[in-house]
Amino acid sequence: MNSDKDPIVAIATAPGRGGIGIVRVSGTDLSPVIAAVLGGRALAPRHATYCDFVDAHGATLDQGIALHFPAPHSYTGEDVLELQGHGGPVVLRVLVSRCLEAGRPIGVRLAEPGEFTRRAYLNDRLDLAQAEAVADLIDASTETAARSAARSLAGDFSRAIHGLTEQLTELRALVEATLDFPEEEIDFLERADAAGRLHRVRAALDEVLQRARQGAVLRAGLHVVLVGAPNVGKSSLLNTLAGEEAAIVTAVPGTTRDRIVRQVEVGGLPLDIIDTAGLRETSDEVETIGIDRTLAEIERADVVLHLVDAADPSADAEVLERVSRRTGRGVPLLTVINKIDLTGEVPAVDGATIRLSALTGRGLDLLRAELYRLAGWDRTTGGENVYLARERHLQALHQARDHLEAASAHAERRDAVLDLFAEELRLAQNELAAITGEFSADDLLGVIFSRFCIGK
Ligand code: GDP
Repeated sequence: MNSDKDPIVAIATAPGRGGIGIVRVSGTDLSPVIAAVLGGRALAPRHATYCDFVDAHGATLDQGIALHFPAPHSYTGEDVLELQGHGGPVVLRVLVSRCLEAGRPIGVRLAEPGEFTRRAYLNDRLDLAQAEAVADLIDASTETAARSAARSLAGDFSRAIHGLTEQLTELRALVEATLDFPEEEIDFLERADAAGRLHRVRAALDEVLQRARQGAVLRAGLHVVLVGAPNVGKSSLLNTLAGEEAAIVTAVPGTTRDRIVRQVEVGGLPLDIIDTAGLRETSDEVETIGIDRTLAEIERADVVLHLVDAADPSADAEVLERVSRRTGRGVPLLTVINKIDLTGEVPAVDGATIRLSALTGRGLDLLRAELYRLAGWDRTTGGENVYLARERHLQALHQARDHLEAASAHAERRDAVLDLFAEELRLAQNELAAITGEFSADDLLGVIFSRFCIGK
């Protein structure tokens, strides 16, 4: 078991070749490493110094910028040394080896994934929700998600949680004070407006929960499967949906045929769109692998869009059948009648049927609105105000809400028992504290930080 006190080293930049590569070291006192790696050159705190990075015999390994952030004014709250060298995998590995060698007397070891951020958390530089936001920012697949993560990192989400905690603390203080004078219990709830206060905390919690739910939608996105015969306009629809919002269009990692799954951002909401065009071709082996992969993607579908040509709206029964077998029951199916510009129809929604033109863009707003609705995405509150919440945050908020509800139920009884009321408030507060990490088990920290990349 590695200790949180060991000095650690890692390459902080992405693997591969780049203009610059950064090796980062963190520990209680890094002076032996600095002296050895820089050949005795002194570093002024937080000043960029151009220098040679040298081996044990003084031979140059690389030249670059060295930065020293003395504790506690650093990312981790410890002494941090940053060596910005040339961004080649070999030269960076050599620098890491050199830091390990020079740091042997003080026990420098390789960092585990997320260990720098774990230290930042343990040294109170960040709370747990902020630390999670670091990983979310790095992993963000859309601009909206990135902005939301950046706000959480700056403390927006944590402040909202602290706001709730403070209101609960005040209420608990009142209750605890009254507990010492049992004869006054009956009047207490009314005089202190406990019910009113509790009501306000619950309303505030509901608002945080609503924003967090939107964040969960933003995180998960919407999995859309596009089905339709060749030439009905699947690619055109995809491009129009993506293009209008200047979407980030990326190939999702893991798919070799990047046209099968595309990630686009529509009104801030990330959509994974799976084009099932390939489902028909079954002869060659590579295609079969592609088809299996597509079918596997389809299993995660949140909605199936079935495209038909307005001039020839016959259903594409075979593919539709294959798709619905994989999506299972309960996945919404929207029929999109495309190319209405050719038939002169007007854009319209009729139950689960939408008429539009992918070419002219007319009726696309109807489709978008339908996708937002299915995702539970509120474009007006979504985007700017959401908290990019994780499942564990949502669970904690829900639990806190349940405890506040139980507290309300106690308060409403004529023979209200203050002890029980107080206990529910305490439990609600503990749930909130778990979000920011004031109250978190060690194994939870293990789970959270192991999902980071190394060097962060
Ligand atoms: P896919 O094979 O289903 O991906 O179909 P494409 O998107 O490649 O479209 C096939 C053809 O139909 C292209 O020439 C498109 O320009 C045309 N097309 C697509 N959508 C529309 C539309 O709404 N109106 C008209 N007039 N043509 C369209």
